[in-house]
Amino acid sequence: MELENLLKKHFGYLSFKTGQKEAISAILNGQHTLAMLPTGTGKSLCYQLPGYVFDGSILIVSPLLSLMQDQVEQLGRLGEKRVVALNSFLSLEEKNYVLDRLQDYKFIFISPEMLQSSFILQKLRNLAISLFVVDEAHCISQWGYDFRPDYSKLGEIRKSLGCPLTLALTATATRKVRKDIIQSLGIEDAVKVESTIDRPNIAIWIEEIEGYQKKTDRVLELAAKLEKPGIIYFSSKKMAEQMALLLEEKNNCNASAYHGGLDQDTRILIQQQFIHNQLDVICATSAFGMGVNKENIRFIIHFHMPMQIESYLQEIGRAGRDGLASIAYLLYSPGDEQLPFQLAESELPSEQQIDWLFHELEIGHGIKGDALQFNQGTQERGGFSEVQWRLVENLLRKEAKEKSSLLDCKESIKEFVNERI
Ligand code: ADP
Ligand code: MG
Repeated sequence: MELENLLKKHFGYLSFKTGQKEAISAILNGQHTLAMLPTGTGKSLCYQLPGYVFDGSILIVSPLLSLMQDQVEQLGRLGEKRVVALNSFLSLEEKNYVLDRLQDYKFIFISPEMLQSSFILQKLRNLAISLFVVDEAHCISQWGYDFRPDYSKLGEIRKSLGCPLTLALTATATRKVRKDIIQSLGIEDAVKVESTIDRPNIAIWIEEIEGYQKKTDRVLELAAKLEKPGIIYFSSKKMAEQMALLLEEKNNCNASAYHGGLDQDTRILIQQQFIHNQLDVICATSAFGMGVNKENIRFIIHFHMPMQIESYLQEIGRAGRDGLASIAYLLYSPGDEQLPFQLAESELPSEQQIDWLFHELEIGHGIKGDALQFNQGTQERGGFSEVQWRLVENLLRKEAKEKSSLLDCKESIKEFVNERI
């Protein structure tokens, strides 16, 4: 059948978006593929459609629970029932139920943490995997803006699954990151599909504003004037919260703060409210947005500029996916370039958290070589935000290589944190 017919039959779309057909053709041709397509341009279709051509299951590694949920729902709306998400949301019984009948599912989403379990890996080895998908593949690279240690093990995991046909998806990747993805996954011969990041319906404005107070006033003014919904990005959780309150009090606006310090349930709730138009404005840190699939975001304001240009493009790229005119404001105060260092401060783990974690390690989770093994949910139980967790993991990994004892590791991590408070 023609690809267009398959597209219409299973998804109801009349035509492919840029890059989709190229990527899908390569995959159906049996070639590993790296697809670099802007956010919102339908990267998921690149594995969804082959799902209806191939016999086996499609295994999709996805870095965030909310992202996975979003994809599961997307397939559900299309009437696809053979979908499951293997993550820490499943109870033990549910997990065992699913693992016993994996072959019944066409689309299996899995978190990188789950792939660390040799029990699960064994189950996956017995499964016919027609396509191994790595979503948000830039998380593999230390040079990316969103490095996840668990992602760097995906190459090995892929090998142990018998090197299945592989598709890596990402929105933005520099040449360095691209190389990392391909090398780390072991898909040197991958077909590369990319399209430009030009988004002609997003206007970009940069304003130089001296000082915090003036910036705050300007944000209130803009938020009152601009068409909503919108996102305002901050590098500080506290400022994001303060602004959300101000917007409610002064602008009578439905605003909410979103950052890594909130618990998982609250974060998912806020994200859902925003998606369903119950919130006008989200005051967020960079923790918000990956995979957020909302078409009608009209403005993005950066109260603080992001650390990397890729993050900036990714963040403003969330506006105007419906193709309608949208606007991105960057409010710059001289000295803002120093902010990333302050961000590190507010995202540092507390002394109690470090003590707790080392207690966990002492009672059995241990450090084996440079491979740290945590139980499922350690991050959650210790109350670590994503950013804190990543920082701790990276530090531990580094320390574990250099230090002889857990106590030494603990002391030098505390030293690292104390130097920055
Ligand atoms: P990405 O992962 O690239 O950010 P998604 O895969 O989540 O984007 O898709 C974004 C939206 O585009 C989804 O709502 C999806 O249904 C829609 N979409 C995907 N392909 C097409 C197409 N060919 N025509 C119209 N809409 C599409
Ligand atoms: Mg996506």
